[in-house]
Amino acid sequence: MHPSHRPLSGRLGRAAALCAALFLAACAGRAEAPATSPSSAHGTAYVAPGASLAMPVRGIRPEQLRDTYSDPRSGGRVHHAIDIMAPRGAPVLAAADGTILKLRTGGLGGITIYQLGADGRTLYYYAHLQRYAAGLREGLPIARGQVVAYVGDTGNAGAGNYHLHFSVSRLADPRRWWEGENVNPYPMLAGVASRSREGR
Ligand SMILES: [Zn+2]
Repeated sequence: MHPSHRPLSGRLGRAAALCAALFLAACAGRAEAPATSPSSAHGTAYVAPGASLAMPVRGIRPEQLRDTYSDPRSGGRVHHAIDIMAPRGAPVLAAADGTILKLRTGGLGGITIYQLGADGRTLYYYAHLQRYAAGLREGLPIARGQVVAYVGDTGNAGAGNYHLHFSVSRLADPRRWWEGENVNPYPMLAGVASRSREGR
């Protein structure tokens, strides 16, 4: 595969080159051994009725979720995420198929994962992790429901306040992954079946 044989120029050319690079990186990752055993990589995703994403913490049910998207946070910030309370060390599961984009440690999020969705435009962020799953690394292809980490209280979660901070953003430009527009993950996780009955 040689994308450079076509006469591409300007922004289109750069975008095509980036897509090719991402594609090749994904292919390279897929050829290697999975980060977790096959039994934990597949078949454990729970998707609530009407939901578009898999529940990102094993054992959590949709009725346990609270919509904390618009909650205020320190420094005048708005949460723009959902906090999923869970036991320390509970497996954190990929909410969707995609690729590990960044693994970052430090700051408010503590130990964190940035996962790029298979569409190349949706970013999933997992924070306050206790630790990553064995073998997790940037560029690794990830299947929905795969164990990627374990619930912790790192960053500014507060000691003993074990939960997963999970957010979803839409990227206008995947090269500028930090500039995404946040969207509320609550309906994507809890499902819309109960909401569709409202107003009838
Ligand atoms: Zn949070």
